[in-house]
Parts: sequence; structure tokens; C-alpha cells
Amino acid sequence: LAKAQGKNRLVVYADGMAEEASRRAAFAQDLAVAADSGQLEVHYQPTVRLADGRTTGFEALVRWNHPERGLVPPVEFVPLAEETGAITGIGRWVLREALRQGAAWMAETGAPLRMAVNLSPRQFQDGDVTADVVAALEETGFPAAQLTLEVTEGVLVRDVDSVVTQLDALRSLGIRIAIDDFGTGFSGLSYLRHLPADILKIDRSFVMDLPRGRSAATLITSIVELARTLGLDVVAEGVETEGQRRALAELDCGLAQGYLFARPEPAELAGRSLPRTVRVPAQPGAPAVEQV
Ligand code: C2E
Ligand code: MG
Ligand code: MG
Ligand code: MG
Repeated sequence: LAKAQGKNRLVVYADGMAEEASRRAAFAQDLAVAADSGQLEVHYQPTVRLADGRTTGFEALVRWNHPERGLVPPVEFVPLAEETGAITGIGRWVLREALRQGAAWMAETGAPLRMAVNLSPRQFQDGDVTADVVAALEETGFPAAQLTLEVTEGVLVRDVDSVVTQLDALRSLGIRIAIDDFGTGFSGLSYLRHLPADILKIDRSFVMDLPRGRSAATLITSIVELARTLGLDVVAEGVETEGQRRALAELDCGLAQGYLFARPEPAELAGRSLPRTVRVPAQPGAPAVEQV
């Protein structure tokens, strides 16, 4: 009897696996057409200068509005899109959409604004990411010097020379490169020698332990010092509390993002926090969005 039950269980299990596989295949198929079906959305989270609380720009974060599942967060589809290659089409769409929005906001406010867009490793392997970026800049009129491209050290997993060449080409256009989730990787600091970068984004896991965590504070202090030595900017990710904000300001961290300031929101909502100068000539003293 035990044997029979075991067998049954095995059958059920195998069925479950087949089901899971076909569910995943269907999801991957949906994902392949998501960009062209108008199902993707970009949400925007401000980057804030800690010294005075000014918004210096936004990070573009993709969301998938699935016809049956509703709004799907990137953790649930970016890894799969990376696996299937769908991320190249999605990434191209996000880039154009974010730059179009950034250009519109700059025209509206009359002030420069930074836009940060995440790139996945696959975009450096398939196709020509530099050509895609140049095309998006030309199409939208967004200035290259206001664009930041965020990569994780995962881009260096394969074909380091080719990735470095592409990053150098992007930087020669005036685009800035940010290393995302800095401090979480495996390779320690040595890859900074290879990876051309302008900005370090301190991973949320370190910020989370502030203000009490002494090792977090020590680590952040060394990242800030390292950045200063190398001439890089620093952005702290995931600031949720006033205590964290204060600790980061005391540690001389220049810029921050996090729920404390704003969550990622659709453009209509995110744009409201932008100070307006040009459209309100009656208030000549109104604050401008300033450069970093
Ligand atoms: P990331 O680039 O490191 O983005 C930061 C993530 O932290 C975002 O999650 C953001 O919503 C979240 N976050 C911001 N402030 C806080 C905070 O105070 N507390 C907490 N708990 N979380 C905060 P999101 O939007 O779910 O994106 C997750 C990841 O998905 C991103 O991490 C990025 O790696 C990837 N991703 C998002 N959009 C794109 C995209 O267009 N292309 C690619 N290739 N990857 C993307
Ligand atoms: Mg990012
Ligand atoms: Mg990050
Ligand atoms: Mg992250």
C-alpha cells in the first residue's frame, strides 16, 4: 500500500511539474509580446540630494500590466525575461519611454533633470546597446549628459572586454554609468578597476541596518571614501526612515532614494513633485530642479 501511495504521489508530483512548466512557458510567451502589446509601464522614483532634499532626477522602473494577473513587479519577470532574451525588447522600450518622459518634464519645468535607466547583462550580449541608446536619445531629444545607465556587476560575468568597450563608448557620449546594488557582489572591489563607472549605488541591505548597525555605517563610510578617491558620486538606495536619512547625511553620502522621499510612481504622480519655474513666471523665486 505504501508503495502504491508513493507511486501515486510521484504521479501527482510529475503532473505538478508539467503544469508548472507549461504555466511558465505561457508566462514567457505573454512576456515576449508584452512590450508590443502596450502592457508595460514605467514608474519613476526620485533621487534626492541629502543636503537640501532637492530632487535631482528619477530612476525608471518597469512594471508589467498583465491582462489577467494585474501589475507584476520586475522581480517576478525580469529574471525570466533575461533568460528568454525578451529583456532586450523590453529594455529598449523602457529606455525610449523614460527618455521621452524625461524630455517632456524638462520642457515643462525648464530645468535639467537626470534620468536613470537599468540595463540588464543580456542587453550587452545581444544586439548593439550603444546603437539603441543613441537612437533613443535622438528620437526623444533627451540630452546624453543627463542620462545615467545602471548596471550591476553581473554585466561582467561574461565577455568582460566587450562590455567594457561598450561602456566606454556610452561614456564617451557623456552618459554616466552607475553600479547598482554596490557592495553585494562576489568579486569585491577589484572589478572597479575594470568597470568604467561614475556613480556607486549603495545597496539597500546596508542602508537597512542604519542608524544603529555599526558595520553598516563602517561599510558605507568606506564606500563614500572610495567614491571620493575615485571621483564618483554616491547614491544610497532604500532609505525608509528619518534615522537612516540623518545617518547617511552624517556619513557624507550625497544622494539617496527611498520610500521616505517617494515610492516609484506613474509619471502623472511622480511629476507632481517637480518644481516648476518656466510655467509660473509670476513666481520668479520658485525653486528650480538643480544639477547634482
Ligand atoms: P534596482 O534597480 O536596484 O531598483 C531599486 C528597487 O528598490 C526598486 O524595486 C524600488 O522600487 C525598490 N525601492 C526603492 N526604494 C525602496 C525603499 O525605501 N524600500 C524598499 N524596500 N524598496 C525600495 P523594483 O521597482 O521592484 O525593481 C526591482 C529590480 O528590478 C531593480 O532593482 C532592477 O534590478 C530591476 N528592474 C526594474 N526595472 C528594470 C528595467 O527597466 N530593466 C531592467 N533590466 N531591470 C529592471
Ligand atoms: Mg537600479
Ligand atoms: Mg539597486
Ligand atoms: Mg536592486
